[in-house]
Amino acid sequence: MAKKNKNDKMDRLVSLCKRRGYIFQSSEIYGGLNSCWDYGPLGAELKRNIKTFWWEAMTARRDDVEGLDAAILMHPKVWQTSGHIDEFTDPLVDCKTCKARFRAEDLQDNKDPERCPACGNKTLTEARQFNLMFKTFMGPVADDSAAVYLRPETAQGIYVNFLNVKNSSRQKIPFGIAQIGKAFRNEITPGNFIFRTREFEQMEMQFFIPPTEDEKWFEYWKEQRWNWYTELGINMEKLRWHEHGPDDLAHYAKAAYDIEYEFPFGWKELEGVHNRTDFDLSRHQEATGKDMRYIDERFEEKFVPYIIETSAGCDRTLLTVLVDAYEEDETRGDKSTVLKLSPKVAPIKAAVFPLVKKDGMPEIALKIYHDLKKKFKVFYDAGGSVGRRYARMDEAGTPFCITVDGQTKEDDTVTIRDRDSMEQTRHKIAEIEDFLSAKMG
Ligand code: ATP
Repeated sequence: MAKKNKNDKMDRLVSLCKRRGYIFQSSEIYGGLNSCWDYGPLGAELKRNIKTFWWEAMTARRDDVEGLDAAILMHPKVWQTSGHIDEFTDPLVDCKTCKARFRAEDLQDNKDPERCPACGNKTLTEARQFNLMFKTFMGPVADDSAAVYLRPETAQGIYVNFLNVKNSSRQKIPFGIAQIGKAFRNEITPGNFIFRTREFEQMEMQFFIPPTEDEKWFEYWKEQRWNWYTELGINMEKLRWHEHGPDDLAHYAKAAYDIEYEFPFGWKELEGVHNRTDFDLSRHQEATGKDMRYIDERFEEKFVPYIIETSAGCDRTLLTVLVDAYEEDETRGDKSTVLKLSPKVAPIKAAVFPLVKKDGMPEIALKIYHDLKKKFKVFYDAGGSVGRRYARMDEAGTPFCITVDGQTKEDDTVTIRDRDSMEQTRHKIAEIEDFLSAKMG
């Protein structure tokens, strides 16, 4: 058998995603739209489960973080104040010969940064700044006075609502605001499947604190976020911290660490944890004249809160979950691919099979399926051999397969097959629900 290399692994994962209904190319029947992807039936479930897992950990189960769902379109002055209109740029280089386009940063790692990596000619232009925000127009007149932007990050929606949330929820500092939502960046070089796209979803939380407590809370959130990925079942050996040094630390940040994952295409950022100081609220206070300072009886002086930000990409997390779960295990027979997704986020929690389509087995299996469906996303399958049905579910990432067989009628038991160990154990029908609940954690 030909040696499979790491890039082939990505290709095979992309084709599994299409075959099983995880991810499709956007507008595929029109030839596709570069860097845009659609989540199919299993992908939509997986994404929803990841968002729920984040939301539960970051706000629903906490007393000190409130949720928010702000609009994508915001007043254009927000982006002036935040610095995005003037500074949210990437240096762009064109090749005059083959017209290929590169981020100047990406060329720095090449042996000869002045040579075009696509055609080999030394015909690269000087770098020019390219703003990554998508611009559009509000209302019928397409002139600059009607210009608005698709938000390039969800964070600004949180900052401009700081006073609204604080006053309506009666939260006291320290407290946070969490939000999940779409963001848009006109990336120069999108790629690596859903790793870098022009439309993506972020899961961000901004935690407002007294300036004197910034180091404590920074360490606290670093630990929380690291633990979140391990609870999601990600292999810890593939995760690491990257500290921003003086060259890549944003001018407003006091400290910044990224959580990185080792993808088949290298170590890449998954999430940033940043100490943003009082930069954001001070800028908005200056631009609007609204007093963002905080006071309560515990503090002698008013202060503009510092912010610790945790900023994760939902699509990148989903890619991480898929890459981390993907395994080729030839002991499983010709269909040897298995997605070892954590039961917490797997799109289908269990499949229910009758061993054969006779002897009353389909009726019992359908009853089990309908009962479980009230609580879990389950799937009924009576087609083909049991081996083939297991293989289909392995590829879809379904952690458990429940089979009704000849013994079921005698003692009300079924077999439950574990996707990862492939072991089958017998359980009473009445105990299946508890069994699955325990596995969901
Ligand atoms: P990168 O260096 O990869 O461009 P960034 O440092 O600009 O990322 P942030 O602005 O800190 O990213 O955004 C927070 C998170 O949003 C990132 O860690 C990533 O998970 C996600 N993200 C950012 N840009 C994209 C993109 N183009 N496609 C998918 N996810 C993205």
